[in-house]
Amino acid sequence: MQFINSADFAAQLDEQDNLKSFRQQFLFPQHQHKDVIYFCGNSLGLQPKQTRDYVLQELNDWKNFGVEGHFMAKNPWYPYHEFLRDNMALIAGAMPSETVVMNSLTANIHFMLVSFYKPTSSRFKIICEGSAFPSDQYALQTQVKFHGFNPDETIIELHPRSGEYTIRHEDILSTITKHKDELALIFLGNPNYYTGQVFDMAGITQAGHAADALVGFDLAHGIGNLELHLHDWNVDFAVWCSYKYLNAGPGGVAGAFVHQKHCNNTELIRFAGWWGNDPQTRFTMPHDFIPVKSADAWQLSNAPVLPMAALRASLEIFAEAGVQNLIKKRKLMNDFLRFIIGDIISKTNSEKNIIMITPENESERAAQVSMLCKHNGKKIHGYLTEQGIIADWREPEVLRIAPVPLYNSFNDIYQFGKCLHEALLLNK
Ligand SMILES: *Cc1c(COP(=O)(O)O)cnc(C)c1O
Repeated sequence: MQFINSADFAAQLDEQDNLKSFRQQFLFPQHQHKDVIYFCGNSLGLQPKQTRDYVLQELNDWKNFGVEGHFMAKNPWYPYHEFLRDNMALIAGAMPSETVVMNSLTANIHFMLVSFYKPTSSRFKIICEGSAFPSDQYALQTQVKFHGFNPDETIIELHPRSGEYTIRHEDILSTITKHKDELALIFLGNPNYYTGQVFDMAGITQAGHAADALVGFDLAHGIGNLELHLHDWNVDFAVWCSYKYLNAGPGGVAGAFVHQKHCNNTELIRFAGWWGNDPQTRFTMPHDFIPVKSADAWQLSNAPVLPMAALRASLEIFAEAGVQNLIKKRKLMNDFLRFIIGDIISKTNSEKNIIMITPENESERAAQVSMLCKHNGKKIHGYLTEQGIIADWREPEVLRIAPVPLYNSFNDIYQFGKCLHEALLLNK
């Protein structure tokens, strides 16, 4: 499509957008009595209006039923996690039995690593991104130490080539080949939280398996954003949080995927809890743990119903909008955003100051555009904030913008461009 940087053109795109009514289902923070323009859905998604009712339902049932709510509540708490499973599986491209909602993200990283990182003296290495999210780095380092290995000799970090900003797929493949005899695990965040780069999960999984390694992904920035086929890609496991693109609220309950082939393996080592036991025998309080043959076997505790109610409210909006529709709009928004930023860079001769480091190649990007700002990045971010545009500043020099299809409009993107233009004229 031939884009134009104008309010009229953005209005035309909004007019043609058949998901536009979903914006009305969300609550926007206010700036000078107007809705802010919100581009931080990659950090904390906005609150759906129906979330309050979903949470209130459980508070009321708790008031009315006390402990009986486990079975008597409108949505009984005993199987509450099951109410989220189908919609979550749809978004993850998984079978329902491969998907579970539980814990928090970093906790799930650890629990998955217990099962899927089992180093031996000959096969112990882990490949990950060099600039992984800190929590992921700490989880990997401490797991490695837990097994008595030295992180410096065990963790192989992938880095961009000198002068480049993102990691080349061919370099990922050659790193796998280079370490193939000692490789135990590949674990990558997808997309990378900082650059927004999307990795080829199917290709990496295939290459990892060819090297006899297991492959897992942290989809904190991928769930609700990427088109996922975790089952078909044969990914071993994946984890994610629900408060970014999934709009389930601060610290919301996280999720995990375990491929069917592992779900059926009752011999797998795991850190177990009673909620991972077969529900048929759970309340007979058996002495020995009998894992249910699904991703539920990794659950430890009974369902945290209040945060799950918030997630449930939001997953129903995803199901209503349709994952494919959302991805289609996300692509168009991202194309338009890149066009607008490119236009402003060229109008202000900012080529040396502002660099879009998220790859241009369509298969390597999703909602987010990361802009490297060489000078005055913080001032640009400050100016946007003063104008009611919520963007995200990441030290040392990146501005992250993520229009999300459920509640952003094309006009939001146009307005962002206008303010970026003003900010660049003020802060050359
Ligand atoms: C957001 C994010 C986290 C946050 O972890 P929590 O356990 O939810 O606090 C971890 N890893 C990545 C890659 C993230 O983007």
